Amino acid sequence: MHPFTYLAPKSLDEALQVLAKDNGEVRPLVGGTDLIDQMRQNRLTPSVVLDVKRIPETMRLEYVAGEGLHIGSAVPCTDTAAYAQVEKLYPAIQEACLLVGSIAIQNRASIGGNICNASPSADTVPPMLCHGATAVIVGPKGRREVLLEEFFKGPGQHVMGPDEILLETVVPPPPDNSSSHYLRFIPRNEMDIAVVGVGSLLALEPGTRRCTQARIALAAVAPTPLRATAAEGVLEGQEVTEELIGQAAERAVEACNPISDVRGSAEYRKELTKVLTRRTLRLCMESLGQPV
Ligand SMILES: Cc1cc2nc3c(=O)[nH]c(=O)nc-3n(C[C@H](O)[C@H](O)[C@H](O)COP(=O)(O)OP(=O)(O)OC[C@H]3O[C@@H](n4cnc5c(N)ncnc54)[C@H](O)[C@@H]3O)c2cc1C
Repeated sequence: MHPFTYLAPKSLDEALQVLAKDNGEVRPLVGGTDLIDQMRQNRLTPSVVLDVKRIPETMRLEYVAGEGLHIGSAVPCTDTAAYAQVEKLYPAIQEACLLVGSIAIQNRASIGGNICNASPSADTVPPMLCHGATAVIVGPKGRREVLLEEFFKGPGQHVMGPDEILLETVVPPPPDNSSSHYLRFIPRNEMDIAVVGVGSLLALEPGTRRCTQARIALAAVAPTPLRATAAEGVLEGQEVTEELIGQAAERAVEACNPISDVRGSAEYRKELTKVLTRRTLRLCMESLGQPV
């Protein structure tokens, strides 16, 4: 492995001082489940590894009424999944956290690292897109907020500069009478990369099947995770039926621009997108007591 300096600042100010200096390449580290492997293979050769786990703000996990859920960028997936408000209000986020790797990986890996690694197949990203998450980014020049759907630029690429870090993501309170679910397809039962991942969120007018809000987000079917807005448009304002879910699933494919690789052809990925869109939407209807 290329030699590097390891720094673990205990405050945000200290971290910002490191980022402000001309250190060569500084790479933030949380769980290291992506970064360490990339460094061992010399795909990344940072001169400074900046462990952000001791910065208190990156370990915040808190639901604030009216504001939403703060997930510090270093909170492990295990802790996020176990947080009562995540289970109650953000089921798709909980489901995705419990799919990342294995229990050992979930104990290390963070949603923040999953986002910053910017893989098109990142499992926690579609649920975060469905729930309208915002990335809070800090650097020596200040703090800014970017909607997660505007965060990704391509495989491994995002809007953050080399002197910036992700501090936390903030997920707004879910709409009334809503539910969300995430499913992915992998060839093995675990420890595999999603061939396709789909997250869906549905909100219904109470006591009816009328959809007040639909969010559908896809992974592994384009250079970045993204929303399937045409499919969402099929559902919003309508009575959700099995037929309508089928139409939405067909339209979800319009957002796809998949590659063919060893995991599956582009056509296969498009078919899987339909299947998983249908299944996640049905799960939402079931959770809302309106099975189709
Ligand atoms: C065996 C195994 C199985 C896996 N299974 C899955 C899976 O099922 N689904 C899935 O999506 N992923 C999977 N992964 C990939 C990985 O575990 C996830 O992407 C994980 O969420 C990364 O989190 P981390 O905290 O370990 O990130 P790290 O490895 O610490 O960091 C990842 C990247 O983000 C950058 N970074 C981290 N934190 C910040 C920050 N605060 N600000 C700016 N940049 C930052 C790092 O510099 C690095 O480039 C797997 C990995 C392994 C080794």
